[in-house]
Amino acid sequence: LFITLEGGEGAGKTSLMEEAARVLEARGIQYMTTREPGGIRIAESIREIILNPSHTEMDARTEALLYAAARRQHLAEKVEPMLAQGITVLSDRFVDSSLVYQGYARGLGIEEVLSINMFATAGRFPDLTFYLDIEPEQGLARIAAGQGREVNRLDLEGLSFHHKVREGYRIVSRMFPSRIHEIDASGSFEEVAAALIARLDAALED
Ligand code: C5P
Ligand code: MG
Repeated sequence: LFITLEGGEGAGKTSLMEEAARVLEARGIQYMTTREPGGIRIAESIREIILNPSHTEMDARTEALLYAAARRQHLAEKVEPMLAQGITVLSDRFVDSSLVYQGYARGLGIEEVLSINMFATAGRFPDLTFYLDIEPEQGLARIAAGQGREVNRLDLEGLSFHHKVREGYRIVSRMFPSRIHEIDASGSFEEVAAALIARLDAALED
């Protein structure tokens, strides 16, 4: 099983990974956790290039190709071998992030970014995705309050970019309605965690 967590800035994906992992653990499912962009040496190096706050001149297509390249290496080196052994993979972001950030928010086109990602992934898509939905204002406030990750190049974008990200997630969720489950991430950590645990448990029941 290949499971991904998605969402905008400050939605809480990284912290909620542990909660999701605990559900798998309780069910005796063998799993591995990872993240994108990154997860392995080469992809972590590409991540540093993409997110370097000084790389303000980066072209949007270059960015999309670098994400796709990092994804390919991560998939080939780590995700596919795990899935082949029957191990469940839980990833903090995957292809939907590219469809949303590069395809929709950067304006490259969801279909175009999907096509380079079909090449990169050779068609491997998650089985199950949880999209953590949050108002950009609230998500960015969490990061500013130090409840999130380190600052990166995306934080130089204005609020309107992050609103596009949210809109993009809604569009992509409608493109894959049976795979992507939306979760309201505006509550306290405990509330969001409880919702994610319940939805993941229910999905694993089928
Ligand atoms: O998941 P995390 O917040 O660590 O992601 C790092 C940064 O990369 C975020 O600012 C995220 O918005 C950005 N990103 C992106 N396009 C992707 C994946 C991540 O702009 N396809
Ligand atoms: Mg994170």
